Amino acid sequence: METAILSRENFGALFESLNKLGYSIVGPTIKDGAIIYDRLQEVSDLPIGWTDEQTAGKYRLERRTDEALFGYNVGPHSWKKYLFPPRRRLWKANRDGKTLKIETESLPEEKLAFLGVRACEIQAILVQDKVFQGGTHKDPYYQTQRARLIVIAANCTEAGGTCFCVSMKTGPRCTKGFDLVITEILEASRHEFVLEAGTPTGQELLAHLPVRAATPQEEQRVDEGVANAARQMGRHLDTSGIKELLQRNYEHPRWREVAQRCLTCANCTIVCPTCFCSTVEDTSDLTGDHAERWRNWDSCFTMDFSHVHGGSVRSSPLSRYRQWMTHKLASWHDQFDTSGCVGCGRCITWCPVGIDITEETNAIRKSES
Ligand code: SF4
Ligand code: SF4
Repeated sequence: METAILSRENFGALFESLNKLGYSIVGPTIKDGAIIYDRLQEVSDLPIGWTDEQTAGKYRLERRTDEALFGYNVGPHSWKKYLFPPRRRLWKANRDGKTLKIETESLPEEKLAFLGVRACEIQAILVQDKVFQGGTHKDPYYQTQRARLIVIAANCTEAGGTCFCVSMKTGPRCTKGFDLVITEILEASRHEFVLEAGTPTGQELLAHLPVRAATPQEEQRVDEGVANAARQMGRHLDTSGIKELLQRNYEHPRWREVAQRCLTCANCTIVCPTCFCSTVEDTSDLTGDHAERWRNWDSCFTMDFSHVHGGSVRSSPLSRYRQWMTHKLASWHDQFDTSGCVGCGRCITWCPVGIDITEETNAIRKSES
């Protein structure tokens, strides 16, 4: 893999080159007191000099003592909103006399560049690839946008307060699924980026940039940076035999305890980068001449989600929390041959009562020892 150095002064060239190659850039920016993903026009749109302090049920932006561009971890948004939009019209129908015209929605034509994708987030995209384009029924919107995507990843050199990617073997180093990966190096007298191409598209992009070859010492800084992030990780989840552990503990008293705290607010599913459930809603106007079908994100925490003839299959908070956690960590393996959790920590941070998936799993494991 070719390794190159891009200076901070030249970082804007990455934006210019992506635009020249026809990509619209989406990446981290500050909005409503959080670092979210949105359209970026220029380098100054990045959360320069900001970091995110996170713990269970708490998220705060804090000023850094430096001017890092990628000095934060992950926020409430994930990239799934661009590949699997929260709300999308599938078709609309208009009746004119005896004629009925049905128009399906067009597929995306824009080429997107995801900038600043973390290692755990790449794994989340690879997991959703299996869901949306790996089986018999493929999602045309997802497939089209995914094919028009360039992934510019960012290695983590500091861990977030709720991260546990080391346990899930998904980070902090990006090892696959990217076109180009950036490692930010910030020292008193230098501010640079180590760039590595992961695909021919990434190599082509690299060829457009004003870079120089990295020295072995600079390459070593990447190893040191990701090792530092791994060392800082405060949470651990023992994944050995986790599917069997959870599946033989469906009646464990811990589910009752967590259910007393869980508000079934669905935050954990909305922020999770791998959750993929949706519902379909039909609407019509009063004349009955116009109708639309929409697909919206849904959550296994809502009563309606499991409503079948006669009522909801999972009417209690206990059954809904247990369904979510055992799906993520156990039955996802049966369905998709992978874990549904990538260790990003979002569900821990954004749970209003601070329920922690690592703590819940570890408690069940400990009770067996
Ligand atoms: S675990 Fe937390 S975030 Fe998830 S539904 Fe319960 S209260 Fe909401
Ligand atoms: S379950 Fe929680 S930690 Fe795991 S991927 Fe989803 S949001 Fe991240």
